[in-house]
Amino acid sequence: MIRADLHIHTTYSSDSTVTPKTLVEKLVAHSFIKVAAVTDHDTVQGLSVTRQLASAYPDILIIPGVEISTAEGDLLILGTEETPAKPWTVEGVIDFAREGDFVSVVAHPYREYGMGDLARNYKVDAIEVVNGESSPHANKLAHELAKSMGLPGLAGSDAHQPSEVCSVYTEVQAGLDVDEILKALKKGLVTAHSM
Ligand SMILES: [Zn+2]
Repeated sequence: MIRADLHIHTTYSSDSTVTPKTLVEKLVAHSFIKVAAVTDHDTVQGLSVTRQLASAYPDILIIPGVEISTAEGDLLILGTEETPAKPWTVEGVIDFAREGDFVSVVAHPYREYGMGDLARNYKVDAIEVVNGESSPHANKLAHELAKSMGLPGLAGSDAHQPSEVCSVYTEVQAGLDVDEILKALKKGLVTAHSM
C-alpha cells in the first residue's frame, strides 16, 4: 500500500512557487507520503526535471500528469507525459485518457473552475473528493457526487506553495509503481484522507 498526493503544481504552473526540487525534498522528508502526481496547468514541461530529481531516491515516486483547463471545468489526467491535442473539450480529454490507459479525474468539482454537476454527463474514471484548497462543504458535495456516480474518490492537495504539499493524501492498494497505482485508482482500491 502507498500514500500519494495526487494533485500538485510546480513552478511550471505560472501560479505556483513549488520548485521540483522542493517537491522531491518534501517527499523524501515525509514519514508516509512517498508518491506525488505532478499536475501543472495545461503543461507537462515540469515532469522530466521532477522525475529526474526523484530518481535519486528509490523510496519515492512521481506520477506524471497534467491539469487541463476546459470550458466546463478542470480535469486531471494521471499517468500522461503529454498533453491531449487541442481543442480541449471534456470529451476529447476523457477520450485521450482512455486511449492512453491514463486516469481522468474531475478536479475540485464544486469550486471555481470545477465542473460541478456537469460531471454527471461524462464517463470519467474518478472524482477528486478531497481537494486541499476546497472548503469542507465543497469536498462533501464532491464525495456525494462520486458516490452517486459509483466512482472512486481521490485526494490531492492542489498545492501551489511548499507548505501545502502533502496537505491531504490518497491511500492506494498498490506497490511503488506507476502502472500498478493507475490500475488501482481505476479499480477504486483507494481511500481519500484529509489530515
Ligand atoms: Zn490544480
